[in-house]
Amino acid sequence: MSATPELSIVIPVYNEELNLPTLFARLYPVLDAIGRSYEVVFTNDGSADRSIELLKAQFAARPDVTRVIDFNSNYGQHMAIMAAFERVRGTVIVTLDADLQNPPEEIPKLLEKIDAGHDYVGGYRLDRQDSLFRTWASRLINIVREHTTNIEMTDQGCMLRAYRRPIIEAIVHSGAINTFIPALAYSFSSNPAEVGVKHEERHAGASNYSVYKLIRLNFDLVTGFSIAPLQYFTMFAMACCAGSALFVLVLAIRRLFFDYTAAEGLFTLFGVLFFLMSVALLGIGLIGEYVGRTYQVVRARQRYFIKEVHERKE
Ligand code: UDP
Ligand code: MG
Repeated sequence: MSATPELSIVIPVYNEELNLPTLFARLYPVLDAIGRSYEVVFTNDGSADRSIELLKAQFAARPDVTRVIDFNSNYGQHMAIMAAFERVRGTVIVTLDADLQNPPEEIPKLLEKIDAGHDYVGGYRLDRQDSLFRTWASRLINIVREHTTNIEMTDQGCMLRAYRRPIIEAIVHSGAINTFIPALAYSFSSNPAEVGVKHEERHAGASNYSVYKLIRLNFDLVTGFSIAPLQYFTMFAMACCAGSALFVLVLAIRRLFFDYTAAEGLFTLFGVLFFLMSVALLGIGLIGEYVGRTYQVVRARQRYFIKEVHERKE
């Protein structure tokens, strides 16, 4: 393995035993054909299946270009990528998924853009092959992201992306916890570009993202990159205050000058109260989200634990 290959491929792996053989069979020929020196860095993110055995076998078969990082437990896709970023040696780094939703055959497309001088190339999925729910939820979160952060990208969920080394170094240096790698990379890029890439159905198995994990991930995207939600919330609270003050004034005038005593409108009042109460709860939750993030940063515990690294010693 060359000490500084031209290309590093980073792949997070979580319970992908059914996909790995096909991934190996398709990925390595593509890389060999590109004709640049390369390494492939896999992170086994605490898989409960035979993924690590398959990765070790691949390391045994291609020790010159394969490195395997083995986590002791599951820390999530973005931390798995982060651990690989801390160890990659390439000048250009490419991330992709292990389930073949990002066809390895599309990698040269990204490299073309990098060669054209861009420091960060994001893929966006052409003809996305996911459930309606996922596609629809992505669109919604796209809109939220556009209004709360200054991150501009067509498809934040696509992990087929290429980065020049300085971007990766900035990401590693940031020490970010619970982060969203494509957005973090964007914030360090000075010359980003996008390119349409094919998207395939998951080769085998089911998505590793439950609805809960998806919600958490998207919180990482929105509250991890801006405090605009807090500011919007405060603005909305101010509007509520102004509205309530006006309401009280109208009631007082009615009571004082029009001798109005009937106790009507009780349920309207309940409606207004319930509404305001839910707004208050939402606010507490939102503040909790930021306090939790602060806590994690202050606690400064290691973000993941590596059990073992399988790579050829220099
Ligand atoms: N992944 C991971 N850790 C996790 C969840 C996913 O390393 O906790 C990996 C997974 O093996 C795959 C990639 O991240 O390579 C994308 O996961 P998945 O296909 O489940 O997500 P989806 O395509 O449904 O967004
Ligand atoms: Mg997938």
